[in-house]
Amino acid sequence: MKEPKKNNFKMVDVHDVRDINQTIFLHLIRERQPISRADIAKYTGLRAGTVSAIVNRLIKNNFVYEGTEGPSSGGRPPKHLFINAESFYVLAVDIGVSDSVFAVSDFNGRIIQQKSLLTEGTPEQFLNKLADEIEKLIQTQYSRAKFGAIGVSVPGLIDRETGTVEISPNLEWKNVPLRQILMSRLNLPVFIENDANAAAFSELWYGPLNEASVRTLLFILVVEGLGTGLIINGELHVGSRLGLGGFGHMSIDPNGELCSCGRRGCWETFASERATVERFHRVTAKQGVPIVNLNDLITLANKDDEMALQSIKITAEYLGEGISNLVHGLYPETVVIGGNITAAWSLIEPIIKQRIHSRYIVSPQKIVIRPASVQRPSLFGAIPIALQNCFQTPLQLNKNPYKSRAKI
Ligand SMILES: [Zn+2]
Repeated sequence: MKEPKKNNFKMVDVHDVRDINQTIFLHLIRERQPISRADIAKYTGLRAGTVSAIVNRLIKNNFVYEGTEGPSSGGRPPKHLFINAESFYVLAVDIGVSDSVFAVSDFNGRIIQQKSLLTEGTPEQFLNKLADEIEKLIQTQYSRAKFGAIGVSVPGLIDRETGTVEISPNLEWKNVPLRQILMSRLNLPVFIENDANAAAFSELWYGPLNEASVRTLLFILVVEGLGTGLIINGELHVGSRLGLGGFGHMSIDPNGELCSCGRRGCWETFASERATVERFHRVTAKQGVPIVNLNDLITLANKDDEMALQSIKITAEYLGEGISNLVHGLYPETVVIGGNITAAWSLIEPIIKQRIHSRYIVSPQKIVIRPASVQRPSLFGAIPIALQNCFQTPLQLNKNPYKSRAKI
């Protein structure tokens, strides 16, 4: 284990914020296990007594256990802390426009198993089918396991207090009581979040450790639509009660194409997966080219298909253009792009960077622009959303459920 740097992270001052600190401790232990209480005190800058009080609570709740596997410098081996990975499981669900995925994660945030199903039928039919599948999996393989919560990531405007999908233009859902349906079927607490927000959250848990002190991170989720999530001052920015997922519907051409939201020329109509594929089909339609999805398009581009290359390059231009505008206003330390488009990273990266730098008044040399740390960030983001809610009381949830590493 590496020697921890003192005050590597900033910490919430204790007392009545103990639940947030429990979550932060869990992150630290998960990432650095085996880790001693003294190391936690060094990392966080908290007093030894405070550290012990929080650790004791975690041990009492069976989230963490103490062992002696840590490095010893002779004499009595020091006690080290480990996550009790199997104390609880959580479920993560990522609802996509064409397919959805659900996963079982242990308390380390590691996916044990995942399954996908088509997103089809009415919302009620689909959610009941999803609940059937989850029930079947739990009954056959996890009948003895304890589940703490379900985190659900969904594209669109959500009401995180009631757990309702108010409107999702891409899913064509309206007023869907998602939490109510899943809770009544599965008898577990359900927490829902917009997919781009969940994706941004995934970086706090699965992103590079050396970015743990990043205060502002902008996540661009390029899927069927396009959404953005924002970490500000180390916390997921949730704004008011409703969250639609940021800047995807920022209009960049008032006379542009009609967007799924009913307005014209949204960023999404230029840079989403759908926009990229439609651009390709517009120029190839007459040549009898079969319908492709973005992954097919990337395969074609890798074979130097000129039309495929052009379609992706134009998307990269628009991504760069939009990011450039946002970077001007937000000046994040890190910009992360997620979605299938990142499989063409070597193709899009130079175009995006060039566009950002050429449009910037003072070139933003220090901004890191990189692909997402995980394959399906909106699924991975649903895991910590479920995990950390295992600690919180309903009262705290109504405030801001997303204070976590954030505060580290
Ligand atoms: Zn729109």
